[in-house]
Parts: sequence; structure tokens; C-alpha cells
Amino acid sequence: MNDDISRRGLLGLGLAAAALPTLGRAQGDGVGFAVVGLGKLSLGQIVPGFAHCRSARLAALVSGHAENANRLAAEHKLPARSVYGYEDFDRIAADPRIEVVYIVLPNFLHAEYTIRALKAGKHVLCEKPMATSVGDAERMIAAAKAANRKLMIAYRCHYEPLNLYAMRKMRAGALGRPRLVVTNMGRQSDLSDPSDAWRLDLVKSGGGALTDMGIYGINGARYLLNEEPVEVRAWAQTDRRDPRFQTVEDMIAWEFRFPSGALSTGTTSFDQAGTMAWEVYGTSGKMNADPGCFYGGNRLVLGGMPGEREPKIVEIDQFAREMDWMADVVRGRAPMVSPGEEGLQDMRLMHAILESVARGGATVRTAWNYRRAVDPATAVPA
Ligand code: NDP
Repeated sequence: MNDDISRRGLLGLGLAAAALPTLGRAQGDGVGFAVVGLGKLSLGQIVPGFAHCRSARLAALVSGHAENANRLAAEHKLPARSVYGYEDFDRIAADPRIEVVYIVLPNFLHAEYTIRALKAGKHVLCEKPMATSVGDAERMIAAAKAANRKLMIAYRCHYEPLNLYAMRKMRAGALGRPRLVVTNMGRQSDLSDPSDAWRLDLVKSGGGALTDMGIYGINGARYLLNEEPVEVRAWAQTDRRDPRFQTVEDMIAWEFRFPSGALSTGTTSFDQAGTMAWEVYGTSGKMNADPGCFYGGNRLVLGGMPGEREPKIVEIDQFAREMDWMADVVRGRAPMVSPGEEGLQDMRLMHAILESVARGGATVRTAWNYRRAVDPATAVPA
């Protein structure tokens, strides 16, 4: 994330705790989480987010840098035995304090650590994108089934009030018949930043800006329209003289066609000013969220709906809410909203986009009969 996005994130965190809706306060049965990979997201959002949780609690840290992890553990009053390295990771099986493993590693490590955690008998919350290949995503789902454990993908917008408000407006037909969803998710990238270096490597990221940021637009079009695309066409615009884009594409633009006749155009790039914006146009109304998917500071403007131009939407700590949701799923207090199958659907769609790019914009069929099991608009309180 760029500085602007991080700043907005902190803003969101500052507004967080009091605003969290309660589904019933956990009483002494907090669900212990192990956070795997102490990089930018873990240090900036996830570990601090536990302070705003009511069901999830930090129980362990897994890192390749023991000194950092030990310091962080001490700060959070965790005993020294709650710090693990990658080599002794499988020892978590014998640690009853850990019920959920939160995978916050570079994308190419998601599948390996998810499957190891499931084999150790733990539930898994895995960051997006779920994996770097469709095959890995399928193996992760199979491993969760075999272990009889929950696998949730960290789609924080499924739990975020602005996006939930927009989904509910769409479901209520407030815009008339949905015609078009436009999404643009991108930012500048910096090859000298280790956190960006792996994102600019095709093998480690699975697809550069597309798998890092474009995925928000793909998932967003799907949850806003509440249907699945049947066809995609895509193009890339990449300057191979730029050292950042030796293995991944830079800008990708795609068009999805949905069964209702709605269209969605999406763009993503790692060489543009930072944005996470989406717009929806219906036959009688429109909505514009800019930003629509930041950690905080999101803003929604409605057109064609009198008296509701800029609805007041209470901000929450999105990471705390998502971790609490996972904890409540584990305790049987909440339904699974973003299961592995949701992650797999995006993996397959991103794969179809890259296939279309490789085939010069050819139409790729994506009608494989996926249907989300639970609609966030009905399952998650505002
Ligand atoms: P970083 O590169 O900042 O952190 C990843 C961490 O993983 C490293 O700091 C390191 O932690 C650990 N790691 C273990 N093996 C490796 C390796 N071979 N190379 C690099 N790092 C390694 O990434 P982010 O924190 O930005 O992103 C992590 C995940 O979170 C990604 O999947 C990303 O897509 C997702 N993400 C999701 C966001 C959201 O809003 N939901 C926002 C940002 C990211 P250690 O030193 O402790 O071992």
C-alpha cells in the first residue's frame, strides 16, 4: 500500500473500536490467532487490530526474524513460547492456545502454509489473493475439507459498512436495473521496496497488480451485482523497458459480461496514482465510491436518489471485524461468508483475464456455474 493508503488506514483505525457492532460479546472464550509473516500488513494493521477485537485474540507469532517477533510478543504480553519460526511451524499442532492461523505471507507461500496449518488441526484465515494458481487454491480447499477445518479468505470488503450499504442498495433495486460496474484499483510500485519486489515477480505474486489490487475490482463487481461473469476479454499495456515489469504485466483492462446483461469494466496498474475506486450505474441511479476499498476514509456518493447524496457510514477497524468474524465462524456464532470457494472463483477469473491478455483480447468463457453460498448483504450486519 502507498503512504496515502496507509495514512487513511490509520485514520480508519482511530475511529474503530466503539463502532464495532456486537453479535454478542465473547466471554472468556476468545479465539486464539497465530499471525504468520510479520510484514507491512501484519505490523501496520493486523497485530494492532487485535486491540479492537471482541472474539479474536493474538496468541502467537510466526516469523523468519526471531528478534522482531520476540520483541513484538513481549509488547503484546505473549510468552516466549508463543513465537515460532517457519522451520518449527508444524509444532503449532501441540499448542492449544492457537485455534486460527492467519496467513499474511507473500502470495506464493499461502498454499504451503495454509495446508500445513490445516494439517496441524488449525482453522485458517488466509490473505487475498488466496494463492498464485487455481491448482493451489483447489488443494487448499481440499485440505480444509480433509481436516474438517474452516478456511476463510480475508476479503475485508465483505465486512465493511460502506460496501455492505452499497450491496444492500443494489439488492433493493435502488439504482433500477444494474447496467455497469466500473472499478479502478492501482498505485505506484517500487522495486527497491522488498514488499513490492515480490509483488512485481510473476512466480511470487501470481500476476502483479492484477492479483494484488485488481482482485478488489473483480470481487467488487461480483458482490455489487450479486452474480458471476460468464465471459471476459482483457488487454494489457506494459512497457518492458521498465525494470518493474519484466515478468508481470503493468496495466490490465478487462470487461466482464454478466448473465443479467450487466457489464463490468476493470483496470489495474502498478504504475499509476493510488486509487481503489468503483462506480455503479443503473437505469435510474448511480453510486460512486472513491475511495471505495481503503482501510479507512472511504466515501460513497449516490446520484438519482433524493436525500441520500452522501450517506453517513460509520467507520470500523476492518481487520478487527474480519478477525472477529472468523472467530465467530469457528465458535458457530456466524456463517462462513468468504470461504475458500470465493477465493478460488477470483483465482479462476484472474486466470481467465491473463489467458485473454495472452490471446490478444480473445473472449474467454467463465460460466462454470459458481454461485456464492452466502451473500454478505444479508449475512453481515451493517
Ligand atoms: P510484506 O512483504 O510486507 O510482508 C510479508 C512477510 O512475509 C515478510 O515481512 C516476512 O515476514 C514473511 N516472509 C516469509 N517468507 C518470505 C519470503 N520468501 N519473501 C518475503 N517475505 C517473506 O507483505 P504484505 O504484508 O504487504 O502482504 C502480505 C499479504 O497480505 C499478501 O498476500 C498481500 O496480498 C496481503 N495484503 C492484503 C491487504 C488487505 O487489505 N487485505 C493489504 C496488504 C496486503 P517475517 O520477517 O516475519 O518472516
